[in-house]
Amino acid sequence: MTQPVFQTVCFVGIGLIGSSLARAMRKHGLARHFITLDISQAARKTAVELGVVDVATDNPAEAVAEADLVVIGAPVGATQAVGEAIGPHLKPGTIVTDVGSVKLAVIRDLMPLLPEGVHFVPGHPIAGTEHSGPENGFAELFEGRWNILTPLPGTNEAAVEKMAQLWRCIGSMVEVMDPHHHDKVLAITSHLPHLIAYTIVGTANDLEGHMQQEIIKFSASGFRDFTRIAASDPIMWRDVFLNNREAVLEVLQRFTEDLTALQRAIRWGEGEVLQKRFTETRAIRRAIIDAKQA
Ligand code: NAP
Repeated sequence: MTQPVFQTVCFVGIGLIGSSLARAMRKHGLARHFITLDISQAARKTAVELGVVDVATDNPAEAVAEADLVVIGAPVGATQAVGEAIGPHLKPGTIVTDVGSVKLAVIRDLMPLLPEGVHFVPGHPIAGTEHSGPENGFAELFEGRWNILTPLPGTNEAAVEKMAQLWRCIGSMVEVMDPHHHDKVLAITSHLPHLIAYTIVGTANDLEGHMQQEIIKFSASGFRDFTRIAASDPIMWRDVFLNNREAVLEVLQRFTEDLTALQRAIRWGEGEVLQKRFTETRAIRRAIIDAKQA
């Protein structure tokens, strides 16, 4: 496989995902010089101290002027601000990519701010944890995981191929997808599960004090698994829901209908309805294990 080596890579946002990608690129020798532009002074300090980047700055010109690859790893709600900050300083031929969990809104907010000759290849690694910040990143995060690229018609094909190679080099599988389709798929596989987890844990949190203690004590019976997801970064997830509104509302409508159907089956003692549903869902779990995505 050809190694897509960059001279200077700039990570705009050096949190969990940005720092993991930086570590993976370092591990595989995919860039010579590592810079970050991050609004968080603490993140900048940590990223330098841990050797994730060589230089950390809050000056957009200093950060991106020499970069031949820019990776946007800030929350998706910050995309426009990022575009306004870096757009005027990007040099022609630079590849700009992102790792945002929604794609249409990022494309909408960023594209108009990129100068002619800059190649934008939107992306989304389907990997992560409930932790944030550069101290929690690790080079192996993307190994064996999918990365979805959502280039627009007319995007420079060499730039798309270079990004695909980069992700493959660090152990990911790559899928190219229409951004609209991406947002619909992720609404069901990621965004709705997070909304459900936030709801369940929120409901438990609203219960009276003595119940709360028992919820913690007996959490291993199922609740615990939701709390991991519901511990995910509040700003990141606020931005995901605000920026994938239509797709999430559509899938939430279907979910609500299905939940009502199960509620009805419980009320009327329709055991066969419940059993049929629970049998079908078991098969999905087996398929995920077989696909090595468990
Ligand atoms: P994170 O750990 O919270 O890091 C984000 C960093 O970006 C923070 O240091 C933040 O600073 C900084 N930032 C915010 N606004 C900025 C701006 N305008 N310019 C420069 N830096 C800015 O976030 P993350 O978990 O790595 O997520 C980053 C992106 O990856 C998000 O778009 C998310 O949707 C996507 N993603 C996340 C996961 C996951 O599991 N976490 C998985 C796949 C994709 P402050 O802390 O001061 O705001």
